[in-house]
Amino acid sequence: MAPISRLLLIGLGCLGLTAAATAATVDPYQRQTLKITDHAWLLYNNVRSTQPPFEGNVVVFEQRAGLVVVDAGGSIPSGKNLVAAIRGLSDKPVRFLIYTHYHGDHNLGAGAFVQAWPGVTIISSAATYANMTGAPMAYINTYAHDYQGMVDYGASALKDPNLAPDKRREWQHVVDIGAPMVAGYVGLKAWPANLVFHESIELPDDMAPLHVNFLGKANTDGDIVIWAPMQRVLATGDIVVNPIPYASASYPSSWLQVLDKLKEYEFAWLVPGHGTIQTDRRYLERVQAAIADIRNQVAPLAARGMSLDEVRKAVQLTKLQDEFAGNDAWDRAQMRGFFLDALVSNAYKEAKGEPIVQGHDGG
Ligand SMILES: [Zn+2]
Repeated sequence: MAPISRLLLIGLGCLGLTAAATAATVDPYQRQTLKITDHAWLLYNNVRSTQPPFEGNVVVFEQRAGLVVVDAGGSIPSGKNLVAAIRGLSDKPVRFLIYTHYHGDHNLGAGAFVQAWPGVTIISSAATYANMTGAPMAYINTYAHDYQGMVDYGASALKDPNLAPDKRREWQHVVDIGAPMVAGYVGLKAWPANLVFHESIELPDDMAPLHVNFLGKANTDGDIVIWAPMQRVLATGDIVVNPIPYASASYPSSWLQVLDKLKEYEFAWLVPGHGTIQTDRRYLERVQAAIADIRNQVAPLAARGMSLDEVRKAVQLTKLQDEFAGNDAWDRAQMRGFFLDALVSNAYKEAKGEPIVQGHDGG
């Protein structure tokens, strides 16, 4: 996910209000450890994936000579927490840190890794490197300010006596973690990869060999997956996010093909970019069906010459909101803003033959 987009869709618009932030004592960037199988662990942030701080999942693989880590957390304290958790798993150094994509919730903690293991090699796709060294990453300069705006908006929303209970619960969470969450985004720095590839890269080993593959454009133009054939663990980054998928500046037709390729892996555990581990292909198929549904609705409308605004009014989104978000008002808003609205826009661009641009489109 790219949290900056999340802010927009939640309805950020009240910058400048005074926060009624309470002095939260919780660390919003805490990590829990789950052993997936031999030589493979998941380090996850123990809030629902639809709740801030929207920290990406982190996977640790143990190879003979050292550790390989997939993604680095999305804030400075998150990176420090991850380093401490990893040191609790093994005395081996982290030799390789791999970014699934450029969105900061997956890499802004990398400074702690560089500090802890100065010899670490950071790996990404070429497109992710270009994004992290270019305009799409510029949003991190206003990240703390923008998140403070989100906390202020939440404090304001809570004053509305008619606020839906689901939204009250979630805005209260945002306000409760507000101060330490925003503090974690002050002084952010991007850590672009120093080993970049276009198609694939191998990290051979006798106990946990890894295959890192770019399968095509999906959630971004540079998403990669990490496959551990001996562990049968597949880390997908935000190509797969559950329970609410994330679209941003995605590429709907190519994304469908990438999901087909994911289904070909003989995984026992699929670790999404956010949310819970999948052990079968059902969720992949649900996401595919949702993308196909939107494309099938949008393409004929675009072909008839409708504007994007007209298409937005004509498409039927309620069924997909019902399916993915149920009756939860917060999740329904996220399904609409983080996935459906972005997907309609991107499907429209595809239908019109217009480019989808990272850092501009989606969310
Ligand atoms: Zn993400």
